Amino acid sequence: MRLTALIILFIIKIGFSQEKDKVSEYADSITAKELMENLYVYSSDYFQGRETGSIGQKRAVNFLQNFYRTTGIVGANGTKNYLQPMTLNIKGEKIETENVAAIIKGSEFPDQYIVISAHLDHIGIDSRGEINNGADDDGTGNVALLEIAEAFKSAVKDGKGPKRSLIFLHVTGEEKGLLGSKYYTENPLYPINNTITNLNIDMIGRVDSLHFGKPDYLYLIGSNILSDDLHKISEKVNDEYVGLELDYRYNDLNTLVYELGRYVKNRYYERSDHYNFAKKNIPVIFYFNGTHKDYHKPTDTPDKINYPLLEKRTKLIFHTAWELANRKSRIKLN
Ligand SMILES: [Zn+2]
Repeated sequence: MRLTALIILFIIKIGFSQEKDKVSEYADSITAKELMENLYVYSSDYFQGRETGSIGQKRAVNFLQNFYRTTGIVGANGTKNYLQPMTLNIKGEKIETENVAAIIKGSEFPDQYIVISAHLDHIGIDSRGEINNGADDDGTGNVALLEIAEAFKSAVKDGKGPKRSLIFLHVTGEEKGLLGSKYYTENPLYPINNTITNLNIDMIGRVDSLHFGKPDYLYLIGSNILSDDLHKISEKVNDEYVGLELDYRYNDLNTLVYELGRYVKNRYYERSDHYNFAKKNIPVIFYFNGTHKDYHKPTDTPDKINYPLLEKRTKLIFHTAWELANRKSRIKLN
């Protein structure tokens, strides 16, 4: 009897560790090399700083469409060639622009959605004619999203696809006031009340001045605000697979930051696209490396990115999405 119990335990243990190996195998398809290759394209001068509505922004959109097409990931409901078009009113001017949205449908709970997002736009060309390449802001978020999508697609091919649906959402108009994500949450492609989380990535390739010499960190903002489940899952997968120092100081909106020459209240929880999801009562995590001297300057270039670190941070988000998508029960709101 005792022997039988032992054997059963042993088999269960092997089952678990095989599962863990498999997840790690998909995570390992996320590499510094691929992130770098894509980022050098995405933040090249050809994209002209990706200002909302500009030719450079359309080129960025094209790059994203081509990636999903060649990876065999389909467009989200209601999109055409992955595009969710919109007309924005920016300073009295009508601007035609678009979000990019792709989906991997869940196998068991296809009607529950996890949105992983990054903003595809940046601030364009400055008054002196210099291109703001926006490698960190938010080139890193976009290439991270592509690598995560590709890793999940490999799992699908092995019959290990996610149980819940994953939406890969590249939003426009962030730098103009979070406009693309606002449009998405007001015109959702899938029901908002079945959108269980938004993981938003905005600047994850650099190290800020508070972490010189100890770069293995990432700011997580908002993870504990709407759902303790979400916060616990995020901590657990980090302990198990990644081991970054997760820094929560900016959950306090009043924590001061030095930015563009002065100290200001950070208010980061309200400053990127996740905020539009949070306003709809959707639990969010905002992944962020903090600001640096090249923030919103033509010097935010791909040569300054720490690629092994970008890989590690991308893996954290992948593992978090994996757990959220595959766990037995949907995460709960507080
Ligand atoms: Zn940004």
